[in-house]
Amino acid sequence: MEDAAPQQPGETSRDVTLITPTAPVQSPTHGGRAKCLQRLVRLDLPVPRTVALSFGAVKGIAAERMPDVEALLGEFAPDAVLCVRPSSEDPDWGGPGAVLNIGITDDTHASLAEQIGRAAATALYTRFVHAYAVDVARLDADAFAGIEAEGEEGLAAALAAYEEEAEEPFPQDRAVQLSQVLRSMARAWEGTTARILRQAKGAPADAGLGLVVQEMALGLGHGECGSGVLQLVNQSTGLPQITGRYLSQSQGREALAKGAASLYLERDPRGPSLEDLAPEAFSELLSHAALARKRLRAEMQMEFTIENGRLFILDGVVVTGTSRAAVRMAVRLAEDGIITRQEALMRVEPRALSELLHRQVDPEAARDPIGRGIAASPGAASGRIVFSSAEAQASAARNEPCILVRRETSPEDVRGMHAASAVLTERGGMTSHAAVIGRGLGLPCVVGANRMRFHLRRRELLAEDGRLFREGDIITVDGTNGTILSGAPAMVEALLDDSFQTLLAWADAERDIGVRANADTPADAQTARNFAAGGIGLCRTEHMFFEPGRLTVMREMIFADGPEDRRAALDQLLPMQRADFTELFRIMTGLPVCIRLFDPPLHEFLPTDRAGLRELAEALGMAVSDVTRRVEQMGEYNPMLGMRGVRLGLTVPEIYDMQARAIFEATLEASREDDPVVPEVMIPLVSTPREVEIVKTRIDAVAAAVKTERGRDFTYRLGVMVETPRACLLADQIAAHAHFLSFGTNDLTQMTYGLSRDDAGRFMSDYVGMGVFEEDPFHLLDREGVGELLRIGVARGRRGRKGITMSICGEHGGNPESLGICRDAGFDYVSCSPFRVPVARLAAAQFAI
Ligand code: PEP
Ligand code: MG
Repeated sequence: MEDAAPQQPGETSRDVTLITPTAPVQSPTHGGRAKCLQRLVRLDLPVPRTVALSFGAVKGIAAERMPDVEALLGEFAPDAVLCVRPSSEDPDWGGPGAVLNIGITDDTHASLAEQIGRAAATALYTRFVHAYAVDVARLDADAFAGIEAEGEEGLAAALAAYEEEAEEPFPQDRAVQLSQVLRSMARAWEGTTARILRQAKGAPADAGLGLVVQEMALGLGHGECGSGVLQLVNQSTGLPQITGRYLSQSQGREALAKGAASLYLERDPRGPSLEDLAPEAFSELLSHAALARKRLRAEMQMEFTIENGRLFILDGVVVTGTSRAAVRMAVRLAEDGIITRQEALMRVEPRALSELLHRQVDPEAARDPIGRGIAASPGAASGRIVFSSAEAQASAARNEPCILVRRETSPEDVRGMHAASAVLTERGGMTSHAAVIGRGLGLPCVVGANRMRFHLRRRELLAEDGRLFREGDIITVDGTNGTILSGAPAMVEALLDDSFQTLLAWADAERDIGVRANADTPADAQTARNFAAGGIGLCRTEHMFFEPGRLTVMREMIFADGPEDRRAALDQLLPMQRADFTELFRIMTGLPVCIRLFDPPLHEFLPTDRAGLRELAEALGMAVSDVTRRVEQMGEYNPMLGMRGVRLGLTVPEIYDMQARAIFEATLEASREDDPVVPEVMIPLVSTPREVEIVKTRIDAVAAAVKTERGRDFTYRLGVMVETPRACLLADQIAAHAHFLSFGTNDLTQMTYGLSRDDAGRFMSDYVGMGVFEEDPFHLLDREGVGELLRIGVARGRRGRKGITMSICGEHGGNPESLGICRDAGFDYVSCSPFRVPVARLAAAQFAI
């Protein structure tokens, strides 16, 4: 077919193509719908005759270069009724609405009436006049609003209204009708609003639109006529089920319209079904749908029309479902041999898995947002607002779900966090206390919601829009997307079914980077084991003291006046630690467990409120005023850069001695003759090789002492956390003293940017909004800066010691994109919160495929 206007560069004679099995039709040039229709044609399905217009042709039409429309019409029967539908490269990018019933004129109306009956022909003509007037000629919709859709009078009124509004009669030339439809659709795509909308969905600025012109199966007329959609799967559950809708005497998407009295598809005791009305067409439809699923290698929704009992397939659209449906559909397609396991793995978004691990707000439920923050820990929960940990515990004792609302959290709040259903904080970022603990507990958490007002004294929370919420009011924390909602919307439960396990087993067979879990308590370790983590990559031992009863002993130790007092506190801590480690080793039997020596940012352990100060005063037998003074004395201007990690270990060496002893005694307790435990002991916040040397000497001495006392031997592996820029740069020298290096990307990000992990939340959303940061670097690893330090660290570390194990244990390990950066940098494994282990396993497989 030739163009009427001179051809422009990039436009070829293939710009207008009849869809046949061999026609040169491709998604990137003609759009997804055109390509899909060709696939259906190749399967020999009863697809009405269709012509595809390429992106180039449609661009030309928008610029007033109309292809030869007479020739286009010549591809169809002389009085065929046509429709034009959009065909963008990605169906998600939208496009102008379809225009149906093109080509009906006063002349063809008569012949159509003979074919399908006067009433049906008149109804179609009237619909066309209406749609053409509003969508194509852009006339005032109100002028057509009251006009009857049925009957000769309605038609006459519609034609008259058209003539009056347009100041010319309704076009009676089929070529004029079609070219005007094409023109209006092509121009709609170029409009600013449409452009902004599709770019928001990820479409490139130059995204093209194709159009398909299709002969219509009418859906109205004698015998059983109608239209509908059918698919072989339920898109909410992903389970096999014939679902869809059908409406007699309808066309387009009328069967899907809200409130449409559509029929059942399969025979159903509740009423008539398509199977009853047109049994042959129904069984044909089922076999076509099954064939499309098999050959197009996806669950497909078939759009169909029935004309006097005869079936036509108008389109096929890939079914997109909920996250749980996506997993089940992918696994079933692979199990049915339709796609490979690798393809199944690539079809599931890793983040979608985390939705399955937690309760979520039902996607269908109405949402009433009252605030936003950083989505720090996924899942959703509703409950009554409480403003303190004590109230959270009281609430839990009454079996009343509650949401703990705090400015930020500290170790004192851990009990409250255990008792709460979710946590909301005003301050903090992805690696602040609330976020890390929330993720560890699998507790929904939103932090840094600083556009809401937190009046903790008055026990009030002000929504971003000014609404007032008081203690006891019910709100919902949606930690999956960082929103706070008023009330308690419907939820969908977490679901770990066989498909989930199957998919992850396939992922494990593909991936080439290990995934361990950050687990601090036996409960965390059990979760890690359940999610098939390859071991524990980071046990933050200071977190073991967040439990009731232990925090005070920990504080006594921190507050001890001299070695004697400290020893007394340490003697109390030793058996607790030994018991914890023994249990961790037992739960993780056969897998490595990496224990990090104390790294307490001291401020996290100091009491901040009066109750905490009094409790400590009682425990220490001191006056509250003295305790308060000591707390003030110990306060640091920059606690995250102060007496932390190995610095505390070197200045108060008895702490690490006690921990090493607890680890080694637990090693002997948990070891079996045929399965000895080989603990990994890790030193935090190192910045110079000398720190490692000193700690190593002391730990070796403790190991030797335990061996002598018990008369038994064991080995252990010593590792260093690389989380200061200096440690990255000196990784070769540090590696000389270590069996493994584990990079702490939380602190490394903090120190590389000079950005406090606890305070960044305050301006992070502004920074991301302004495009200063592409993403929160505590969430998505910074490939350029922090990533460069990692690459340097890996290269130098390997140079310093051959065969050394390299890993990441910052929160980034559970973020799919960050995991890709770690894999590229050559790490052996990542370690992340237990609940993110499945996400990391799938993401790792996708990078390897
Ligand atoms: C880190 O800094 O990345 C890390 C894992 O340690 P923490 O978060 O406990 O400081
Ligand atoms: Mg750290």
